[in-house]
Amino acid sequence: MRMQEYRHIFGPLPSRRMGLSLGVSPVPKKYCNYSCVYCQLGRTPKLQKSKGMYFPVADILAEVADYLKSGVNFDVLTVVGEGEPTLYEGLGELLTGLKKLTDKPVAVITNSALLPDEEVRQALAKADIVMPSLDAYDDASFKKINRPRKEMSFDEIYQGLVTFSREFQGQLWLEIMLVQGLNDDEASLLKLKGLLEKIRYDRLFVNSPVRPPAEGWVKEPDEGALERAAELLGGLSISKSASPDFFSEVPDHYEAILSIIKRHPMNQHEISSFLNSRDCSDQEQVFAQLEQNPAVETVDYKGYRTYRLVK
Ligand code: SF4
Repeated sequence: MRMQEYRHIFGPLPSRRMGLSLGVSPVPKKYCNYSCVYCQLGRTPKLQKSKGMYFPVADILAEVADYLKSGVNFDVLTVVGEGEPTLYEGLGELLTGLKKLTDKPVAVITNSALLPDEEVRQALAKADIVMPSLDAYDDASFKKINRPRKEMSFDEIYQGLVTFSREFQGQLWLEIMLVQGLNDDEASLLKLKGLLEKIRYDRLFVNSPVRPPAEGWVKEPDEGALERAAELLGGLSISKSASPDFFSEVPDHYEAILSIIKRHPMNQHEISSFLNSRDCSDQEQVFAQLEQNPAVETVDYKGYRTYRLVK
């Protein structure tokens, strides 16, 4: 099977938290119960209410097994939806199956929304690493930043996170995304710090929207604010985590970039260094192809051009 034909696998992609992450997506594109203002996948067209068995577990596992035969190098296998992976009904079975296929750690990235659901907590218990988000500190900030389904309650989700953190035997890496003017001021950070006291976690990452967000008005915290916030919260600023290079086993340079930006936007510098690492002799040609492809959306953000595949 060629890389372009894999439906559920993407990467390995450099992750600032995990090294080289081989992604497995069990949900259809942008199936999520939030529509975060900073989401790099754009706005959520329809907020999902309940879990679903979108694809047979066996199909996803068969793809991963096939892909692993290529001997690809990666550090962690990460279940990360093109939306929210806990919306996948077969998550527990999938994690059990993935752990049989690899000795590498299996991680799940989640927005925490379904942690009040015991079945979801039981499914996540099978992972080695769970990376839940906590960006808000009350209902009002939750609605502004994560824009959840309207019946969702911040307190209930926070309690679910606290409960899960105490039950979970693996590594719990918490992430807080800071958005300028929404949750990066001192009063917000102190409220978040108060909430952290009840959560048992192994690592805390403080992040900022480095890729084009769903809403054009979203801004990163000011220079130095991320580090100051990380210090106040006792976490690690994600901008300090080294990012390894992008990698693809797809031989054609242009196709390789398409296979990456399908799930992970890349900016012009990342594309350039990726092409350099592959000794590509005609970068201009590859950039021209990207610019001419109507399925590739280009966004000017933070002074450079970012490319993502939208179809
Ligand atoms: S950032 Fe994650 S949780 Fe938020 S809308 Fe995007 S996919 Fe959903």
